[in-house]
Amino acid sequence: MVMLNCPDSVYPHKLRRLYWPFLSLAEASPAVHGTVAGSFTRNGHRYTIPRFSFRGPSVGGTPIRLGLFALIHGDEPAGAHALEHLLARLAEQPELATGYELVCYPLCNPTGYEAGTRHCRSGADLNREFWRDSELPEIRILEHELRTQRFDGLIALHADDTCEGSYGYSHGRALDDALLRPALAAADRVLPRDRRATIDGFAAREGVICDCFRGILAPPPEQGTRVFNLIFETPALAPLPDQVAANLAALEAILATYRGFIAYAPNL
Ligand SMILES: [Zn+2]
Repeated sequence: MVMLNCPDSVYPHKLRRLYWPFLSLAEASPAVHGTVAGSFTRNGHRYTIPRFSFRGPSVGGTPIRLGLFALIHGDEPAGAHALEHLLARLAEQPELATGYELVCYPLCNPTGYEAGTRHCRSGADLNREFWRDSELPEIRILEHELRTQRFDGLIALHADDTCEGSYGYSHGRALDDALLRPALAAADRVLPRDRRATIDGFAAREGVICDCFRGILAPPPEQGTRVFNLIFETPALAPLPDQVAANLAALEAILATYRGFIAYAPNL
């Protein structure tokens, strides 16, 4: 069932080109649902932050709910294409998402993507605005999603034009670290890893950074540390198909690893 419409008169071509494969997937696969997380108006144009969800085969009980986010920075399209490929793969092989409900936000910063800029049209870096009483409509929409969807884990896909390979942020938490390392190992099959001791101004070890900037996309404060929160970065100067493949490998590794943790936890 498709609940998301993108009338030509409303969305410029670039945005429609990004949406189109997702809409096609939602139309072709009953397991993919397209909806609108929220919309807003800027400079007389209406913009939408879409949400595409996929529910894998059930193993009984409540599915593990993951929020997957891309294009928080408007000039980092690899993550959005990776989410498209992930949903396409899941439509063919739903067992890869057994026990999961995945909620994908491929376009968190529509005005930045339209303009080809990291920041949104108002000039803000969205990934410094979360949980800081931001008035930006993109942040209000995404914070509402983060609060109401009650995710068990978050994965934000980014690209960095100053790095030498893939890396990620674990926020210094053991669970995040245990998920990020196999994700990086899986991505190693496609792109090199950034193994420098300092990445993006932070101390790093084997491509894992424990510290982070303030105001990044994160679980709501009241949900605390129950929710894992990963940032996966690909080298933005690498060929786009390689970045997409690295993201995809990382995402599949996280799904497999976390499912193993959940299955194992009751026996601890
Ligand atoms: Zn980014």
